[in-house]
Amino acid sequence: MNTPITFNLAIGSRKPHSGTQKICPFCHPEKLTGIMEKKGDIIWLMNKFPVFEHTWPTVIVETSDHNGELSTYEPEKLHEVISFGLSHWLQLESDKRFKSVLYFRNYGPVSGGSQRHPHSQIIGLENYDYRDNILGENFLGSLVHEDEDCYATISDYPLSCMGELNVTLKKDASPDQFADTIQTLARFVLHDFPLPCTSYN
Ligand SMILES: [Zn+2]
Repeated sequence: MNTPITFNLAIGSRKPHSGTQKICPFCHPEKLTGIMEKKGDIIWLMNKFPVFEHTWPTVIVETSDHNGELSTYEPEKLHEVISFGLSHWLQLESDKRFKSVLYFRNYGPVSGGSQRHPHSQIIGLENYDYRDNILGENFLGSLVHEDEDCYATISDYPLSCMGELNVTLKKDASPDQFADTIQTLARFVLHDFPLPCTSYN
């Protein structure tokens, strides 16, 4: 077990937050810098606030709709966003600069995310393999869904929280039903979880 990622407080303290900023930076793509790719209204760019040291942090602005959210995307949009993210995550996974690469999103006021505008992140970790801190057991638990492309479980041995839901994409499977299942679980967390939840990671 190791915890080698250092949070840079100096950068973190300068980072704008939806609660304090007047203008959402992601609503003004013409002013964004460090853009690496655009597809429709999806934009992949460098994160201006690299709060984690020895990482290569990037952001995917998923939509031009500030009030959109993964749990409410139409199927076509959902599939486009997840396919875009997965393809770039895989691209970085094979990049020799990184020991491992994270692809994640946060939503809601207690998720730790600083921007309301729908976005996800892909972060290359230069000297840390996050898989060192994960066991196969962490993904085991009651099966709540399975189709030809993916399956979903509720963790019996969650890593850090009381409720962890897992969606596993099967080998060489199509990501569309994987995306649909993630969306279904995000809706469950926000609307039907036994405890009130406004946020998820
Ligand atoms: Zn916005």
